[in-house]
Amino acid sequence: MSFDIGFLPVSIWDVLDILIVGFLFYQIYRLLKGSIAFNIFVGVIILYVVWMIVDALKMDMLKMLLGQFVSVGVLILIIIFQPEVRRFLLFLGNTTLRRRFNFFEKFFTKGYSEAEQTKRNNQMRQINGALQRFSKTKTGALIVFAKDSNLEGIVSGGVSLEANISQSLLESIFNKESPLHDGAVIISKEKIQRASCVLPVSENTELPKWIGLRHRAGVGITEKAQVSCFIVSEETGNISLAKEGNLQTAKDFSEVEAWMKKEYITG
Ligand code: ATP
Ligand code: MG
Repeated sequence: MSFDIGFLPVSIWDVLDILIVGFLFYQIYRLLKGSIAFNIFVGVIILYVVWMIVDALKMDMLKMLLGQFVSVGVLILIIIFQPEVRRFLLFLGNTTLRRRFNFFEKFFTKGYSEAEQTKRNNQMRQINGALQRFSKTKTGALIVFAKDSNLEGIVSGGVSLEANISQSLLESIFNKESPLHDGAVIISKEKIQRASCVLPVSENTELPKWIGLRHRAGVGITEKAQVSCFIVSEETGNISLAKEGNLQTAKDFSEVEAWMKKEYITG
């Protein structure tokens, strides 16, 4: 099937081709917006456009020179964006697996059993209690809810704990005298899995100017993986939630409780 625009024959596949390429570029733009990688990406596109112009004008020397870059372009891109490519593939695998899993879960189970529900509610209360205490005493804290995401290659360092979730353990970890207080705690599968972890710091230039490394790390992990992250500020005692690369600060503790319920019980 095809039709003509003036002298150009256009088939339905051409239209689809353009739409898909447009969509892909838009997704890459959204993914990289506000990061250093975006500037590199723009540089690459400019190089490619110049090469095409030079080619059309038949400027052979320049074309040969630029051609050296363009011919190994894909390889160069993979090397420069190696961490991004790796994370993107991990992210893709993680989300599709999780979707499939959720799909089956919906059909074969009716959510959590009552005992399971009570257990999770209790765990949530422990975490809430710790957050409230951190806020009152202005203790800096960083807690990641990883659900079933694979954080390998994203989070580094830290000490493995695999401990039951309790307010007193969380308080001991983030106590300033504790050797584990520096860094983030990872909670998943109803356990405190690790403490003192180093998270990837967000390079987003659109984040508010006041935030420091702790908040940037909290946002950074949510850019790289399907996780959410609660952050207590040492300076103000404010509690914030990072999710999908965004940061919001709670007005009061009931807002924190509502967020927590969504992240820990229903989400
Ligand atoms: P606050 O409001 O609590 O001061 P902030 O956003 O201003 O937080 P900083 O003052 O820079 O951040 O906080 C430094 C602390 O943040 C460090 O002591 C460390 O515990 C934690 N931190 C910094 N970078 C990371 C990281 N990449 N991963 C995990 N934790 C980090
Ligand atoms: Mg600070």
